Amino acid sequence: MERLALVTGGSRGIGRAIAKALRDRGLSVVVASRDPERGRAAARELGAEWRFLDLADAASVAALARTLEGGLDVLVDNAAIALKGFDAKIARATLLVDFLGTMRLTDTLVPRVREGGRIVMVSSGVGSLSSVSSELAKRFLDEAIDRDRLVALTDDFVADVEAGRHAERGWPTSAYGVSKIALNTYTRILARELERDPRRIKVNAACPGWVRTDMGGNAAPRSPDEGAKTPVWLALLPDDGPTGGFFRDEKPIPW
Ligand code: NAP
Repeated sequence: MERLALVTGGSRGIGRAIAKALRDRGLSVVVASRDPERGRAAARELGAEWRFLDLADAASVAALARTLEGGLDVLVDNAAIALKGFDAKIARATLLVDFLGTMRLTDTLVPRVREGGRIVMVSSGVGSLSSVSSELAKRFLDEAIDRDRLVALTDDFVADVEAGRHAERGWPTSAYGVSKIALNTYTRILARELERDPRRIKVNAACPGWVRTDMGGNAAPRSPDEGAKTPVWLALLPDDGPTGGFFRDEKPIPW
């Protein structure tokens, strides 16, 4: 049976390299992104399909999910934004795409992931818990944390930014970093839930390293293909591979 992968943000950068590597391994690939022209051109070159997705828009997430009712084997949550500047508006916009939209898409698609499926969150070392106070780190790492408490924590971040007290409350001055901390926490929540699922789905997060893309800039040492390596490894893990972990260069790294 044909294996199907969805790569969000597969139109350029690391996502495009992930999509190419999965195509080269014989999977059918759907890439999803906002810009139709760039998305269609990339899909044509990759031998993939392109579909519209704006992670900030719930209706767009639902529409993409409807096209995948037949099921999928690999979901690579790669799309993200890193906006310039820092204020509550930027914090809200970043969290909406990088965390909330990604969680919404993933939760909508999980019922459609087939047996032996793999879910990969393309995260970042910038989302390390070493960037928040130990009190906040404890709350993110709490085994009992669920989606509602996680969202409430990110709401606290936005409120603290708005009130000009985020640093004294233990937050970093990076909406992108907090979004990736939240994404990593969601990775653990989902992996824990799926441990009891008969489909044996694995969920992991990857840091691609610093990569030459529109987001990473020209000075980054890694090529998109190099950045894609660990996400692709996690997308193709064998049955005895890990779940609920965070990896860079195919090795575990601390949350
Ligand atoms: P990029 O070059 O900026 O590409 C981002 C991709 O996401 C594009 O395909 C973009 O297409 C899509 N996208 C952006 N906003 C979207 C939205 N609202 N809905 C759907 N798709 C959206 O980024 P990249 O450097 O390849 O980064 C890929 C992943 O690696 C991200 O999760 C990033 O945080 C992570 N990462 C990157 C680096 C680095 O050094 N580059 C380091 C650590 C982690 P459209 O604009 O057409 O939608």
